[in-house]
Amino acid sequence: MRDSRYDILFEPMAIGPVTAMNRFYQVPHCNGGGYRDPSAAAEMRGIKAEGGWGVIFTEQCEMHHTSEITPFIELRLWEDKDIPQLRRMSEKMKTHGALAGIQLAYSGINGPNLYTKEVPLAPSALPIRTFTNDPVQARALSKSDIRDLRRWFVNAAKRSKLAGFDLICLYGAHGFGIFQHFLSRATNQRGDEYGGSLENRARFVNEVVADIRDAVGDCMGLTLRVSLDETIGELGFSNAELREFIEMNRDLPDLWDLAQGTWEDCSGPSRFKEEGAQEQLVSGIRVLTSKPVVGVGRFTSPDVMVRMVKSGTLDFIGCARPSIADPFLPRKVEEGRIDDIRECIGCNICITGDMTMSISRCTQNPTFMEEWRKGWHPERMNPKGESGNVLVIGSGPAGLEAAWALCRRGYDVAIAEARTEIGGRVTLESRLPGLSAWGRVRDYREYQLRQRPNAEIYLDSALSAADVMEFGFQNIAIATGATWRRDGVARQHVVPMPIADNARIYTPDDLMAGRMPAGDVVIYDDDHYYMGGVLAELLVKNGANVTLITPSAFVSDWTNNTLEQATIHARLDEMGVDIVLNRGVIRIGTDHVVSNCVYTGKTRTYPAEAVVMVTSRTGNDTLYHDLVARQADWADAGILSVRVFGDAEAAGPIAWATYAGHRYARELDEPDRGDALSFRREITGLAAE
Ligand code: ADP
Ligand code: SF4
Repeated sequence: MRDSRYDILFEPMAIGPVTAMNRFYQVPHCNGGGYRDPSAAAEMRGIKAEGGWGVIFTEQCEMHHTSEITPFIELRLWEDKDIPQLRRMSEKMKTHGALAGIQLAYSGINGPNLYTKEVPLAPSALPIRTFTNDPVQARALSKSDIRDLRRWFVNAAKRSKLAGFDLICLYGAHGFGIFQHFLSRATNQRGDEYGGSLENRARFVNEVVADIRDAVGDCMGLTLRVSLDETIGELGFSNAELREFIEMNRDLPDLWDLAQGTWEDCSGPSRFKEEGAQEQLVSGIRVLTSKPVVGVGRFTSPDVMVRMVKSGTLDFIGCARPSIADPFLPRKVEEGRIDDIRECIGCNICITGDMTMSISRCTQNPTFMEEWRKGWHPERMNPKGESGNVLVIGSGPAGLEAAWALCRRGYDVAIAEARTEIGGRVTLESRLPGLSAWGRVRDYREYQLRQRPNAEIYLDSALSAADVMEFGFQNIAIATGATWRRDGVARQHVVPMPIADNARIYTPDDLMAGRMPAGDVVIYDDDHYYMGGVLAELLVKNGANVTLITPSAFVSDWTNNTLEQATIHARLDEMGVDIVLNRGVIRIGTDHVVSNCVYTGKTRTYPAEAVVMVTSRTGNDTLYHDLVARQADWADAGILSVRVFGDAEAAGPIAWATYAGHRYARELDEPDRGDALSFRREITGLAAE
């Protein structure tokens, strides 16, 4: 049962005319599915309802067609036609007593309108401010436009009510919502009564709140999501100005939702941001208003949550990523199962689903966004199939997730691990600069497995095909990982590159095993995710003189999708790493590399006593192929199935490995689906011509 020190988290709290059953508040968060995958997004919110959240919000919902953020896929409430899909979501949210919230977004200077082709409207005429630097400008809202916009907000509020929501969040944070655009002197350079003084800049939000109150305020709570600090220099909406704004407008919304200025700051990865990193910016705001306050900070520890409430910093504990990694977090606190909380590792893979307009994944919770598509529940597995036991070979994220999920299905599971420690790449990578939180992928699963009578872990057990044939397990799950290549093969070179015989070549595996180059070291990064940048940090800390060469225009290019690319570049630059962009490496000598410009081919030489190849990985699949070669003997050995998955099958980020392990466990002994699609999807209903 619940520890009494967490009782305070379960107190009911009023938000205007409605009351939340507890202080666990799932703030709006994207999921990459949005309007394209309405049932998948709705079911995901429904799972959070089951997990005990007191408040559950949608992602941002574009409330009028004159402002949208294509190519990003969020929700839309442009006409009555959109109501049924949103009602499906609100109904799911309310199944276990949560308040259902909708976040209404008018993207103003952040909406390029690539789909609707409408001219964007913003407080002042400026270029659109997006991740993609679209070559589009907004025109300034006229007074009559402002009247229209107020009416559109009222229309959207009425539709939100019809769609069954209890709460409306007006979006004015992260640089994405029009309320911030009006509040900030950077984006509001108007000379009329909507610009200039803070009172004038706050006029629009005051008008919209009053309009919506009149329309739906009797039954719906109104929250305002504002930036804690715009962090764009002197003109930006600063933390000091925010405090002034809240003091001047103490009772404006029914709840203040405080989020950091840019999304990159607000959803900072654990590599650069601790849990509760926004505390200083939030602290002291609570006393400026009589209304409750919610804030975020990748909170996964109920003790930190209690401290936030008891110190008078927050009334509600806002969570996006922690609610993705463990939708059952509140329920686990309630049931006294703190050790069962699957803590977010702060990798921001979930965000990449939105940034790549695909559908989100979560490293820690492979069921995220598969609740409807595949019927995967984060806490419940499908019943056990016909066979009885599984030998899992390899204890990396793929093997550990498979083992833990198989255990829950009721299989007897043995894990054999060649090394003397568990966790595979996660254990090794969690020792790299800034990545310690990633160890939670191992910790959660190891702890769970150790509680189970039907799981055994054998360390220091490198298995050969002959060993496996002898053991008598029915199912063989091969999750033996991958090895970084030494020969330069990745994207620039699809076959091995010219390397002098006595050149000193290192791979990330060498560095993680403690074999460290010194002196002038070139990192050749043709992988483009975090590894090249992280190893640059490691090498500088070890005293090396580091040059990072990459054919991309950005260092750690793919981390644009995890919102950390700019921070990585700044960190490496501050550490003295020589960052060389748009250049490849075509030849490695004993004391230098020859680099080529990716556009012109012009070459240049860089001194290099050693080269670290951050290129690609080869699956460790020898064991798998050895077993396949003995398929004729499987029946005699009692073997029913042999499967390879995770990095051994095809290397990818850790989230791909946990997903692969989970999928293996779900599908074991299940009927073969043949050529059928492996998940459900929705197709837009055809109009009647
Ligand atoms: P993934 O990301 O797919 O889980 P990892 O590389 O993290 O892959 O983990 C693979 C694990 O498998 C490593 O810990 C490695 O030591 C282990 N391993 C590799 N080959 C064998 C083998 N033949 N027997 C037992 N363990 C193995
Ligand atoms: Fe946390 Fe990573 Fe999961 Fe996102 S993907 S919720 S950051 S563990």
